[in-house]
Amino acid sequence: MKKIKLHTKIFLGLILGIVAGIVFGEKVLVIEPIGTIFLHLITMIVVPLVFVSLMLGTASLGDVKKLGRIGAKTAVYFVITTVIAIVIGLFLANTVQPGKGLSQDVQDQLYQNYEEKAQAGLQHMEEKPSLIEVIVDIVPENPVRAFIDGNMLQIIFMALLFGIVLTLIKKEKSKLIIKVLDGLNDIFIQVVHIVMKLAPYGVLALSAAVVGQFGTDILVTLLKYSLVVLGGLVLYTLSVNSLTVSLLGRISPMRFFKAVKDAIIIAFSTSSSMATLPVAMDNVEGLGIKREYSSFVIPLGSTVNMDGTALYQGVSAVFIAQIYGIQLGITGQVTIVLMAVLSSIGAAGVPMAGIIALALVLKQLGIPLEGIALILGVERLLDMVRTSTNVIGNMACSVVIQQLEEKGNK
Ligand code: ASP
Repeated sequence: MKKIKLHTKIFLGLILGIVAGIVFGEKVLVIEPIGTIFLHLITMIVVPLVFVSLMLGTASLGDVKKLGRIGAKTAVYFVITTVIAIVIGLFLANTVQPGKGLSQDVQDQLYQNYEEKAQAGLQHMEEKPSLIEVIVDIVPENPVRAFIDGNMLQIIFMALLFGIVLTLIKKEKSKLIIKVLDGLNDIFIQVVHIVMKLAPYGVLALSAAVVGQFGTDILVTLLKYSLVVLGGLVLYTLSVNSLTVSLLGRISPMRFFKAVKDAIIIAFSTSSSMATLPVAMDNVEGLGIKREYSSFVIPLGSTVNMDGTALYQGVSAVFIAQIYGIQLGITGQVTIVLMAVLSSIGAAGVPMAGIIALALVLKQLGIPLEGIALILGVERLLDMVRTSTNVIGNMACSVVIQQLEEKGNK
């Protein structure tokens, strides 16, 4: 009963925030610090929670073979679902053709408003390291720096390594460490529960600030494009995730979506898979997902699995190409699939990471990067929704992996 109340409160917070943003406009930004404090509280717990629970999860799997098997299944699931997401995005964008209807006036106006911002974003992209550098960087040189920077791939690497080694040392020694880790894990989870009590207020402030700052006018200008992205995200989430959780995970989609409501709203209001991570792990526990699976799949997914971001890249690349009158053809579309898979793996689970990933796709296709200026106005809203899709995809994966593993062991 108490839980239902919290859900309702968080949802009310969201609605109230949006209304306050519309009514008060930029004035509503005075309450933004409440949202920022909430954001800090949940982000604060991400690094310790991921490190401890992943190490514990790995150690409790007990052998490297099992870890390899789960890792392989997870990777296959991530890649297949991401490809499906992009294909849905491409199909919709090619059918509806949202880029065909945008008048020259509107284009000029959008360029003028967002050119500067787009330039700043593109500069950021120039600093993006190559794939090899990304791989080398997974192994941290300085473990303390990895924690300070909150470099999730490095933290995941260390947690896996220490977790495996924990199974290799003498039992009498590892027993003690595992007990301590277990206790710490409980503390972190408890912190998440307490912080969630503040969620209604945090969500209210965050959503009010977004609406107050960005307004809803621009949405109308880019209505067709926004609707294709949003429609694609909803379609993908409801069809693909419902199918995977019911067919592969043996859980009814209704039960799944009901259990993960909190995570969806937090993802929506923070635009960050990373910040949503503790809540996502907590929510799937309510579905009976064991920590050994959730603490492996969800932290990994928050960094590398982004179905929503990939779908968004597909639609946006086609949209911008249509505006410039560029024919993409089959080769172009296949390039989008490949590049979007790779760049969504490389993108961090933080707000606006998808824009940088999109710039990589455009660059590969030879589409003018300035086209990004056209869509920046609706970026925040699309980010909110695609982050929810990303997080739902990770939670669905944990359900599937547990079912596949446990079934295989029976
Ligand atoms: N904000 C998204 C996330 O955290 C990434 C993106 O910008 O697409 O999942």
